[in-house]
Amino acid sequence: MLIDTHAHIYAHEFETDRADMLTRAREQGITKIYMPNVDHASIDAMLEVESRWPGCVAMMGLHPCSVKKDFEKELYRVETWLNQRAFAAIGEMGTDLYWDKTFWPQQQEAFKIQVGWAKRYQRPLVIHCRESINETLDLLEPLQDGTLTGVFHCFTGNLPQAQRMIALGFYLGIGGVATFKNGGLDQVLPEIDLQHVVLETDSPYLAPVPHRGKRNEPLYLPLIAQRISEIKSVPLSEVQRITTANAHQLFAA
Ligand SMILES: [Zn+2]
Repeated sequence: MLIDTHAHIYAHEFETDRADMLTRAREQGITKIYMPNVDHASIDAMLEVESRWPGCVAMMGLHPCSVKKDFEKELYRVETWLNQRAFAAIGEMGTDLYWDKTFWPQQQEAFKIQVGWAKRYQRPLVIHCRESINETLDLLEPLQDGTLTGVFHCFTGNLPQAQRMIALGFYLGIGGVATFKNGGLDQVLPEIDLQHVVLETDSPYLAPVPHRGKRNEPLYLPLIAQRISEIKSVPLSEVQRITTANAHQLFAA
Protein backbone atom coordinates (compact mmCIF):
# COMPACT_ATOMS: atom_id res chain seq x y z
CA MET A 1 0.00 0.00 0.00
CA LEU A 2 1.40 3.37 -1.12
CA ILE A 3 0.17 6.96 -1.09
CA ASP A 4 0.87 9.39 -3.92
CA THR A 5 1.09 12.69 -2.03
CA HIS A 6 1.18 14.87 -5.16
CA ALA A 7 -0.47 14.11 -8.50
CA HIS A 8 -2.37 16.33 -10.92
CA ILE A 9 -4.60 13.48 -12.09
CA TYR A 10 -7.35 15.92 -13.03
CA ALA A 11 -5.09 17.29 -15.81
CA HIS A 12 -6.23 17.07 -19.42
CA GLU A 13 -3.41 14.58 -20.08
CA PHE A 14 -5.67 11.96 -18.45
CA GLU A 15 -8.84 12.95 -20.28
CA THR A 16 -9.11 9.80 -22.37
CA ASP A 17 -8.07 7.10 -19.89
CA ARG A 18 -8.52 8.45 -16.38
CA ALA A 19 -10.67 5.55 -15.17
CA ASP A 20 -8.23 2.93 -16.51
CA MET A 21 -5.24 4.85 -15.16
CA LEU A 22 -6.77 4.94 -11.66
CA THR A 23 -7.71 1.26 -11.81
CA ARG A 24 -4.12 0.37 -12.76
CA ALA A 25 -2.81 2.38 -9.82
CA ARG A 26 -5.26 0.82 -7.36
CA GLU A 27 -4.32 -2.68 -8.53
CA GLN A 28 -0.70 -1.84 -7.71
CA GLY A 29 -1.67 -0.81 -4.17
CA ILE A 30 -1.76 2.97 -4.57
CA THR A 31 -4.73 3.51 -2.29
CA LYS A 32 -4.73 7.26 -1.94
CA ILE A 33 -3.84 10.14 -4.25
CA TYR A 34 -3.58 13.76 -3.09
CA MET A 35 -4.33 16.37 -5.74
CA PRO A 36 -2.68 19.81 -5.56
CA ASN A 37 -4.61 22.73 -6.98
CA VAL A 38 -2.96 25.16 -9.42
CA ASP A 39 -5.31 28.13 -9.85
CA HIS A 40 -8.97 28.99 -10.60
CA ALA A 41 -8.85 27.07 -13.88
CA SER A 42 -8.04 23.71 -12.27
CA ILE A 43 -10.59 23.71 -9.45
CA ASP A 44 -13.66 22.31 -11.26
CA ALA A 45 -11.76 19.42 -12.85
CA MET A 46 -10.05 18.58 -9.55
CA LEU A 47 -13.29 18.55 -7.56
CA GLU A 48 -14.98 16.42 -10.20
CA VAL A 49 -12.25 13.78 -9.92
CA GLU A 50 -12.54 13.91 -6.14
CA SER A 51 -16.30 13.31 -6.24
CA ARG A 52 -16.08 10.46 -8.76
CA TRP A 53 -13.14 8.47 -7.42
CA PRO A 54 -12.86 7.55 -3.73
CA GLY A 55 -9.31 7.90 -2.48
CA CYS A 56 -8.58 10.96 -4.62
CA VAL A 57 -8.38 13.94 -2.29
CA ALA A 58 -8.24 17.64 -3.15
CA MET A 59 -6.02 20.40 -1.75
CA MET A 60 -6.66 24.09 -2.21
CA GLY A 61 -4.08 26.77 -2.95
CA LEU A 62 -2.49 28.99 -5.57
CA HIS A 63 0.58 27.76 -7.47
CA PRO A 64 3.42 30.34 -7.64
CA CYS A 65 3.52 30.12 -11.45
CA SER A 66 -0.07 31.40 -11.43
CA VAL A 67 0.86 34.44 -9.31
CA LYS A 68 0.57 37.32 -11.79
CA LYS A 69 -0.87 40.82 -11.81
CA ASP A 70 -4.30 39.48 -10.81
CA PHE A 71 -3.03 37.32 -7.96
CA GLU A 72 -5.31 38.94 -5.39
CA LYS A 73 -8.33 37.84 -7.39
CA GLU A 74 -6.90 34.32 -7.60
CA LEU A 75 -6.28 34.25 -3.85
CA TYR A 76 -9.80 35.47 -3.19
CA ARG A 77 -11.21 32.47 -5.09
CA VAL A 78 -9.02 30.07 -3.14
CA GLU A 79 -10.02 31.63 0.15
CA THR A 80 -13.70 31.42 -0.76
CA TRP A 81 -13.28 27.66 -1.26
CA LEU A 82 -11.38 27.28 2.00
CA ASN A 83 -14.29 28.93 3.79
CA GLN A 84 -16.77 26.57 2.18
CA ARG A 85 -15.39 23.12 2.92
CA ALA A 86 -12.40 21.20 4.24
CA PHE A 87 -9.35 20.44 2.09
CA ALA A 88 -6.43 18.09 2.72
CA ALA A 89 -3.83 20.85 2.55
CA ILE A 90 -3.04 24.38 1.43
CA GLY A 91 -1.36 23.79 -1.90
CA GLU A 92 0.27 23.77 -4.00
CA MET A 93 1.76 27.08 -3.07
CA GLY A 94 5.33 28.32 -2.88
CA THR A 95 7.81 30.20 -5.04
CA ASP A 96 9.32 29.79 -8.49
CA LEU A 97 12.26 31.71 -9.89
CA TYR A 98 12.83 29.33 -12.78
CA TRP A 99 10.04 30.31 -15.17
CA ASP A 100 9.49 33.98 -14.43
CA LYS A 101 10.95 36.44 -11.91
CA THR A 102 8.65 39.32 -12.86
CA PHE A 103 6.21 38.72 -10.03
CA TRP A 104 8.66 37.83 -7.26
CA PRO A 105 7.27 40.46 -4.83
CA GLN A 106 3.75 39.18 -5.48
CA GLN A 107 4.94 35.58 -5.05
CA GLN A 108 6.29 36.45 -1.63
CA GLU A 109 3.07 38.13 -0.63
CA ALA A 110 0.94 35.20 -1.88
CA PHE A 111 3.24 32.86 0.05
CA LYS A 112 2.77 34.71 3.33
CA ILE A 113 -1.00 34.92 2.88
CA GLN A 114 -1.23 31.17 2.25
CA VAL A 115 0.95 30.40 5.25
CA GLY A 116 -1.58 32.43 7.23
CA TRP A 117 -4.36 30.19 5.91
CA ALA A 118 -2.43 27.07 6.90
CA LYS A 119 -2.45 28.43 10.44
CA ARG A 120 -6.07 29.54 10.39
CA TYR A 121 -7.44 26.29 8.91
CA GLN A 122 -4.83 24.11 10.64
CA ARG A 123 -3.81 22.41 7.41
CA PRO A 124 -0.37 21.36 6.14
CA LEU A 125 1.40 23.37 3.43
CA VAL A 126 2.34 21.70 0.16
CA ILE A 127 5.23 23.82 -1.04
CA HIS A 128 6.58 24.14 -4.57
CA CYS A 129 9.98 25.79 -4.93
CA ARG A 130 12.04 25.83 -8.07
CA GLU A 131 15.37 27.67 -8.23
CA SER A 132 14.19 29.25 -4.99
CA ILE A 133 14.79 26.79 -2.15
CA ASN A 134 16.84 29.15 0.04
CA GLU A 135 14.48 32.06 -0.65
CA THR A 136 11.53 29.89 0.37
CA LEU A 137 13.22 28.71 3.55
CA ASP A 138 14.07 32.35 4.38
CA LEU A 139 10.38 33.22 3.99
CA LEU A 140 9.09 30.25 5.96
CA GLU A 141 11.46 30.13 8.92
CA PRO A 142 10.30 33.36 10.61
CA LEU A 143 6.66 32.29 10.14
CA GLN A 144 7.08 28.92 11.88
CA ASP A 145 5.35 29.37 15.22
CA GLY A 146 5.31 25.66 16.01
CA THR A 147 1.94 25.04 14.35
CA LEU A 148 3.03 24.78 10.71
CA THR A 149 3.56 21.40 9.05
CA GLY A 150 3.83 20.36 5.44
CA VAL A 151 5.98 19.05 2.66
CA PHE A 152 8.53 20.46 0.27
CA HIS A 153 7.18 18.77 -2.81
CA CYS A 154 9.54 17.51 -5.53
CA PHE A 155 12.60 17.92 -3.31
CA THR A 156 15.76 18.49 -5.35
CA GLY A 157 17.95 20.37 -2.87
CA ASN A 158 21.25 19.66 -1.16
CA LEU A 159 21.85 18.29 2.34
CA PRO A 160 21.98 21.64 4.22
CA GLN A 161 18.68 22.63 2.59
CA ALA A 162 17.12 19.27 3.51
CA GLN A 163 18.28 19.79 7.08
CA ARG A 164 16.65 23.23 7.24
CA MET A 165 13.37 21.71 6.01
CA ILE A 166 13.54 18.93 8.57
CA ALA A 167 14.35 21.42 11.32
CA LEU A 168 11.15 23.23 10.37
CA GLY A 169 9.24 19.98 10.90
CA PHE A 170 8.53 19.53 7.20
CA TYR A 171 8.66 16.40 5.05
CA LEU A 172 10.60 16.01 1.81
CA GLY A 173 8.45 14.90 -1.13
CA ILE A 174 10.54 12.52 -3.22
CA GLY A 175 9.53 11.81 -6.80
CA GLY A 176 10.87 10.76 -10.18
CA VAL A 177 14.02 12.90 -9.85
CA ALA A 178 15.35 10.19 -7.49
CA THR A 179 15.59 7.89 -10.52
CA PHE A 180 17.37 10.42 -12.79
CA LYS A 181 21.09 9.91 -13.42
CA ASN A 182 22.05 13.48 -12.52
CA GLY A 183 19.19 14.08 -10.09
CA GLY A 184 21.62 14.42 -7.18
CA LEU A 185 19.32 12.71 -4.68
CA ASP A 186 21.67 9.72 -4.42
CA GLN A 187 24.01 12.13 -2.59
CA VAL A 188 21.41 13.48 -0.17
CA LEU A 189 19.02 10.63 0.60
CA PRO A 190 21.59 8.39 2.33
CA GLU A 191 21.95 11.16 4.95
CA ILE A 192 18.19 11.62 5.47
CA ASP A 193 16.10 9.49 7.82
CA LEU A 194 13.08 7.93 6.08
CA GLN A 195 11.03 9.45 8.90
CA HIS A 196 11.11 12.70 6.90
CA VAL A 197 10.23 11.34 3.46
CA VAL A 198 6.95 11.02 1.59
CA LEU A 199 6.47 9.69 -1.94
CA GLU A 200 4.95 11.55 -4.87
CA THR A 201 4.77 11.28 -8.65
CA ASP A 202 3.81 14.89 -9.60
CA SER A 203 1.87 13.25 -12.45
CA PRO A 204 1.67 14.00 -15.35
CA TYR A 205 5.17 15.50 -14.99
CA LEU A 206 8.58 14.07 -14.04
CA ALA A 207 8.00 10.42 -14.90
CA PRO A 208 10.61 8.16 -13.28
CA VAL A 209 13.06 6.07 -15.29
CA PRO A 210 12.33 4.07 -17.51
CA HIS A 211 9.40 6.31 -18.43
CA ARG A 212 11.36 9.56 -18.23
CA GLY A 213 10.06 12.19 -20.68
CA LYS A 214 6.71 10.46 -21.09
CA ARG A 215 3.44 11.05 -19.25
CA ASN A 216 3.72 10.18 -15.59
CA GLU A 217 0.97 8.47 -13.60
CA PRO A 218 0.51 7.22 -10.03
CA LEU A 219 1.10 3.64 -11.22
CA TYR A 220 4.83 4.49 -11.35
CA LEU A 221 5.05 5.36 -7.65
CA PRO A 222 6.57 1.93 -6.78
CA LEU A 223 9.52 2.74 -9.10
CA ILE A 224 10.34 5.69 -6.85
CA ALA A 225 10.00 3.59 -3.68
CA GLN A 226 12.28 0.98 -5.28
CA ARG A 227 14.93 3.60 -6.12
CA ILE A 228 14.87 5.02 -2.58
CA SER A 229 15.30 1.51 -1.25
CA GLU A 230 18.41 1.08 -3.45
CA ILE A 231 19.91 4.48 -2.63
CA LYS A 232 19.45 3.99 1.11
CA SER A 233 20.10 0.23 1.21
CA VAL A 234 16.86 -0.25 3.10
CA PRO A 235 14.35 -3.03 2.30
CA LEU A 236 11.56 -1.94 -0.03
CA SER A 237 8.94 -3.00 2.53
CA GLU A 238 10.48 -0.54 5.01
CA VAL A 239 10.33 2.31 2.49
CA GLN A 240 6.67 1.49 1.81
CA ARG A 241 5.72 1.19 5.48
CA ILE A 242 7.46 4.33 6.71
CA THR A 243 6.55 6.65 3.81
CA THR A 244 2.89 5.55 3.95
CA ALA A 245 2.77 6.22 7.69
CA ASN A 246 4.40 9.62 7.08
CA ALA A 247 1.80 10.50 4.43
CA HIS A 248 -1.00 9.64 6.88
CA GLN A 249 0.69 11.81 9.48
CA LEU A 250 1.20 14.69 7.05
CA PHE A 251 -2.45 14.90 6.06
CA ALA A 252 -3.93 13.83 9.41
CA ALA A 253 -6.97 15.88 10.32
ZN1 LIG B 1 2.52 19.95 -8.68
